[in-house]
Amino acid sequence: MTDHRPADLLEKVVNLTKRRGFIFPSADIYGGFRSAYDYGPLGVNMLRNVKAAWWRSMVQLRGDIVGIDAAILGPPAIWAASGHLETFTDPLVDCLRCKERWREDKIDGVCPQCGGTEFTEARAFNLMFKTHAGPVEGEGAAAYLRPETAQGMFTNFANVLAATRRKPPFGIAQVGKSFRNEITPQNFVFRTREFEQMEMEYFVPPAEADHWYRYWIETRYAWYRDLGIPENQLRLHEHAPEDLSHYSRGTTDVEYLFPWGFDELEGVANRGDYDLTQHAAASGVRLEYFDQASGERYVPWVIEPAAGATRAMMAFLLAAYAEDEVAGETRVVLRLDSRLSPYQVAVLPLSRKPELEAVAQEVAARLRPLVMVDYDVTQSIGRRYRRQDEIGTPLCVTVDFDSLEDHAVTLRDRDTTAQVRVGIGGVVDEVRGRLGLS
Ligand code: ATP
Repeated sequence: MTDHRPADLLEKVVNLTKRRGFIFPSADIYGGFRSAYDYGPLGVNMLRNVKAAWWRSMVQLRGDIVGIDAAILGPPAIWAASGHLETFTDPLVDCLRCKERWREDKIDGVCPQCGGTEFTEARAFNLMFKTHAGPVEGEGAAAYLRPETAQGMFTNFANVLAATRRKPPFGIAQVGKSFRNEITPQNFVFRTREFEQMEMEYFVPPAEADHWYRYWIETRYAWYRDLGIPENQLRLHEHAPEDLSHYSRGTTDVEYLFPWGFDELEGVANRGDYDLTQHAAASGVRLEYFDQASGERYVPWVIEPAAGATRAMMAFLLAAYAEDEVAGETRVVLRLDSRLSPYQVAVLPLSRKPELEAVAQEVAARLRPLVMVDYDVTQSIGRRYRRQDEIGTPLCVTVDFDSLEDHAVTLRDRDTTAQVRVGIGGVVDEVRGRLGLS
């Protein structure tokens, strides 16, 4: 088998994900809504798996990080203190020829629509979505949709500390939707106006900040690698001091080799004491750690790994897409890590004969408490294997006429296409073993 990464990879993945029910353009029947996407039956499984893999590594397998789920809507006070009202802007320019609007730092001086090179002066365009909370309009009722999940961790710092009695170094993690009125949403789900983030704020004694900054860069890089992104498609990019955000004392991006070049998957930042100090000053609430043993009181520094769930899912799809040759035929296969696949097992009765379907349903019922199971009886078995390969299902279980005699089924592996016979009583354990489930 030789893998082949096609030149039109992005187009192929976009088509596959729509056709097979991973990702649909939002409001499709109305011609689409450029800035948003809907996740279909397979996509929702995969996106949940991406978020679950993150939560497992960041919260479940550690003892030092707790989770929260904060509100999406918030009062202006949060965003004034965080600096977002003032500085969460992108430079907006209008092309003087075709009038299209662009983000100045993304177009290299040439209008992507008409090729024009003359633009208006850049003006600061705030990316936050503003709305009104309650039945009255006006500034008193102003509210914002959060443009990042991070602020929920800072505004709940004192609540979490009091509720959990943590001691730095410790972290607060959150997964959820964020909204940015991006000037030019583009590249499929890479940049959308509504997206999902996976962020963690790690509160540390100031003297340990540099150590933890390095630690989180390595840990987060390893997470993508261990979930199947080849190392030659991953790299770290440390920001030059002059490119740092106003709050940052150091930022390193984990980048993926997207079809248009290396681009950000995640940013790991040393935010110093900026956030807690800002919110303490604005709210009048002390946001510090008091160490009873030493009598020391200090504002912890924050190391933040900030990732996009939807953007990570796109990278996993691109990295998994392959075309290879099996028995002289080209097949499309998503070599997804089984933890990310929409389904881990497909159960395929060879025909619609009721005796076969009864056995197949029984096998599916045994597997469902363990993994997500797809069940498919349509078309030839070869076509069904191809369809499962194309959506990244690592294992297929085929029930054939012999199954009625020998009470065994055929287990087929997506990557090697190798098939083995397994007794029905042993299927659950075999699947558990092959997928590395405990
Ligand atoms: P950019 O400079 O590309 O606009 P950023 O550096 O401001 O993005 P962060 O604020 O660091 O992005 O957000 C953390 C992560 O959230 C990003 O690495 C990305 O994975 C994800 N993310 C940010 N904006 C979007 C978006 N519009 N669509 C999808 N994911 C996003």
